[in-house]
Amino acid sequence: MAYAWFSLGGNVGDVDETFASARRALRDLAVTPPRVSPMYASQPVGGPDQPPFINQVVGFRPRFSPHATLRGLWHIERDHGRSRATEVRWGPRTLDLDILIWPETVSADPELTLPHPRLLARRFVLTPLATVAPDLVVPGTERTVAQWLADCPDTHWVKRLDP
Ligand code: ADP
Ligand code: MG
Repeated sequence: MAYAWFSLGGNVGDVDETFASARRALRDLAVTPPRVSPMYASQPVGGPDQPPFINQVVGFRPRFSPHATLRGLWHIERDHGRSRATEVRWGPRTLDLDILIWPETVSADPELTLPHPRLLARRFVLTPLATVAPDLVVPGTERTVAQWLADCPDTHWVKRLDP
C-alpha cells in the first residue's frame, strides 16, 4: 500500500502544540512513520474574518480503511478541542484533519470524497503537499501535485514558517 496524505489546519489556541500532539495520535492510524511537510501560515479562505491558519501535510501508509481512518481523524479532532456543534463553516477551529489523497482511490461519497473535493483549488494544501510529494499523480487526474500547484488559481497568500 502506498502513502495516504492528510492535511492539518488550525487557527485557535497553541497550534504548534496541537499539531505535535495530533501527529503523535496519527501514529495509531499508520503502519509507517509519517512524512511531514514544513508548517505554513495561510490567509483564511471563506468564512468570517479570522486569524491566519497554520497548515501542514503528513503522509503515511494507512493501517485501516478510508472510512475507519476518517473516523479516527474525527476522534483526534475532538480530543483537541474541535466542536462541530458550535463552529461556523470554514470558521476558526483548533484542528481540522482532512484526507487529501488515498492511494489509487477516487470517490464521490459526500462523507468521504477522494481526492479531497477542494484539494486542487487550495494553495494552502497544495503548497505543503508539493514539498513532500511533488511527483505524486493526483488520483483521477493525469497531473502531478507540482503541476496542479503551478496552475492553481487561488490567490490567497501562503507563507512558509519553518526555515
Ligand atoms: P472542512 O474540512 O471542509 O473545513 P469539516 O471538517 O467540517 O469542513 O468537514 C465537513 C465534512 O466533509 C465532514 O462531514 C466529512 O464527512 C466530509 N468530507 C468529505 N470528504 C472528506 C475528506 N476527504 N476528508 C475529510 N472530510 C471529508
Ligand atoms: Mg475537515
